[in-house]
Amino acid sequence: MTNLKLIQELTELDKKHFLHPTSPIEQQQEQGAAFIFTEGNGVHLHDLAGNTVIDGMSSLWNVNVGHGRKELGQAAMDQMSTLAFTSCFATFSNEPAIRLAEKLSHIAPGDLSATFFTSGGSEANDTAYKLARHYWILKGQENRKKIISRTKSYHGVAMGATSATGLKPFRDFTNSLAPDFCYVDHASSQSLREVIEAEGPETIAAFIAEPVQGAGGVHVAPVNYFKEVRAICDEYDILFITDEVITGFGRTGTYFGMEHYGAAPDMMCFAKGVTSGYVPLGGVMLSERIHQEFTELSKGTLLHGYTYSGHPTACAVAIRNLEIIEQEHLIANAKAMGEEMLNGFKWIQSEREIVGEVRGLGLMGGIEIVKNQHTQERFQAPLVPQIVAEAAKRGLICRSVVFDGQDTLVFAPPLVINKREMSQLIEILNDSIQAIEKGMM
Ligand code: PLP
Repeated sequence: MTNLKLIQELTELDKKHFLHPTSPIEQQQEQGAAFIFTEGNGVHLHDLAGNTVIDGMSSLWNVNVGHGRKELGQAAMDQMSTLAFTSCFATFSNEPAIRLAEKLSHIAPGDLSATFFTSGGSEANDTAYKLARHYWILKGQENRKKIISRTKSYHGVAMGATSATGLKPFRDFTNSLAPDFCYVDHASSQSLREVIEAEGPETIAAFIAEPVQGAGGVHVAPVNYFKEVRAICDEYDILFITDEVITGFGRTGTYFGMEHYGAAPDMMCFAKGVTSGYVPLGGVMLSERIHQEFTELSKGTLLHGYTYSGHPTACAVAIRNLEIIEQEHLIANAKAMGEEMLNGFKWIQSEREIVGEVRGLGLMGGIEIVKNQHTQERFQAPLVPQIVAEAAKRGLICRSVVFDGQDTLVFAPPLVINKREMSQLIEILNDSIQAIEKGMM
């Protein structure tokens, strides 16, 4: 079968049988899939139509070690051919899960020391909320059930995670949410204090935050924000949970995003980069204190668990993935290439009229598109979807964020990106913005 025939066949089948996650259904039905990928190599992806593109998003902020790593395939095969799966319910265990939990306790911020495994970030978030609430039940404070999160936050799409997500369109997608969630301004610790006071501190279980907000448009918190937040949580006896699903495992130029802020969480959600997306895995870590209290106060069974909690193959791949991150010094590379990326954005800002604020931390970056660089006035309709489409045509995948009236391009290339590839990314991006800018002038 020629490629063209195969593309036609798969396009029809895709339209008919495949309901895509977080995708414009109308576009799928009219144009078919944007890409049908066949292969990946480092920062590059190849598709059935013969295109090669730079994966400027590490797919979904997760392919940290880059595509096509045979070592991870080997780790999965070795584990699958000895013990692919066994349950961790009823205290059953397996070596990869134990070893990974131990490894995480060494690399995670503060004194996070025990891990509950999930299959991804949404499950990790729902687990964190349930464990936080259960903690307060154990402590005899059953009224502490509210979870506070931030505007512009994204925590996933399970019912709890959707309810915690500050980006309203995700909550409005459904007409009934989980109760006992409330929201604070994303950049103001004062707002956290005000909401705690208004809701009643004795009703709050936990506050959750991403160290750098990703899907909400790459918003880097003010330097002292998390130290202030930590102090407020301590003052009101509220658990502080960090969502490191994107920022974990080197993405921001440190192992975890919270290292930039010097504030230790009571719990931490992770996923994505733990396996670089090669197999699904996530989890929640508890601080030594919380873990100890859990163990001392719990009488019955911990009635929360996923079939795939502690999946041996997923954990074996994660262990190998973390070895690669360390052996290849990918965290230092993320830091260096992150600076390169931000400098590139600044250069584009000096070249292009429609580029407003540029920002980033490590290999997470955001560019605001504006009508007027001086006043930061925006275009009436967002331009970023057009720029993303233009970039894709020219060989670069990036993402648009248009929530909350934003007109923002976001980037998160793999941690293996080198200088030459970064220059290409910047060049394609500049050309793409220029092409759209021309049409506006
Ligand atoms: N938390 C954050 C910060 C995320 O960015 C995401 C996904 O992008 C999630 C949670 C949800 O993770 P998953 O899609 O693996 O359920």
